[in-house]
Amino acid sequence: MRVLVGGGTGFVGGALTQLLRSRGHEVTHVSRRPGPDRIIWDELSHSGLPPCDAAVNLAGENVLNPLRRWDDAFRRVVIASRVETTKTLAKAIAEAERPPRAWVLVTGVGYYRPSPTAEYTEESPGGDFDFFSRLVSAWEAAAKIPGDGTRQVVVRSGVVLGKGGGAISQMLWPFRLGLGGPVGSGLQPFPWIHVRDLAGVVCHALETEGVRGVLNGVSPASSGTSNADFTRELGSALGRPALLPLPGWAVRGVFGAERAVMLLEGQRVAPKRTLESGYCFVYPDLPSALQDIVS
Ligand code: NDP
Repeated sequence: MRVLVGGGTGFVGGALTQLLRSRGHEVTHVSRRPGPDRIIWDELSHSGLPPCDAAVNLAGENVLNPLRRWDDAFRRVVIASRVETTKTLAKAIAEAERPPRAWVLVTGVGYYRPSPTAEYTEESPGGDFDFFSRLVSAWEAAAKIPGDGTRQVVVRSGVVLGKGGGAISQMLWPFRLGLGGPVGSGLQPFPWIHVRDLAGVVCHALETEGVRGVLNGVSPASSGTSNADFTRELGSALGRPALLPLPGWAVRGVFGAERAVMLLEGQRVAPKRTLESGYCFVYPDLPSALQDIVS
């Protein structure tokens, strides 16, 4: 299969590209910068979809960049990097002479309202209560194409854990030095997935006829994991104490109150449709995922 991957040069894209190539598929990235095995977004807008059998979008500015102030200008970049790239790909797919068989968008579990108790499946409501939930709604709406010639799948991802990228890359050094600890109260749910499994779910959605609609991209153990559980397991995988809490006020100071919600609150999310669709997780539980990452 020839697969076109928007934002495929990033953390998740690296794992997805490796997995797809190992399964004999050809991968071309859509990027802001030209390079080998790549086209740029302008080329896609002007020349249309290159010949391909499937498309994926992973493009998105890093929301939790601590060096960027959470102001209107940055909010616009965060929105445009997701919604505009998705619209560009969806338009190219809708106008293609030979449309691809499958089209997969990765969004986030920020669609569901943070709660210490509610457990969400793909059928649960959401998408209309704060900046991030409305962003996910706009992002997913941008992916919609008319007709059903192309299978459309949305993967709502939790925090992606893996070597060499994502949130954990910024946590490893303080944890290795014994300076890690829970964020805020630590009681907030911590929806997570190993990067190999997020790549696996996307690949499964591309390859499996009949998979359509929303799949939650979280591990099966994720709905029972709190931030404090994650902290304890990471400390234990590293053989270091992880007792120094990061207070909520410090998180709000660095990220701003709106963004800090992503760290200080969380959702219990179950991958109900993902499991029903036949996906088998490589890292279903936190100890095995973290052992792989710290080894
Ligand atoms: P990365 O931060 O690695 O970024 C992915 C790619 O997005 C980059 O390689 C870059 O490609 C492109 N990109 C970055 N900024 C912009 C911009 N301003 N405009 C256009 N393109 C941009 O993301 P991940 O791989 O970690 O995540 C992939 C997707 O999954 C993202 O959409 C993210 O929101 C979503 N997600 C990720 C989670 C996580 O924990 N990592 C959790 C939930 C959802 P290039 O430089 O080639 O243009």
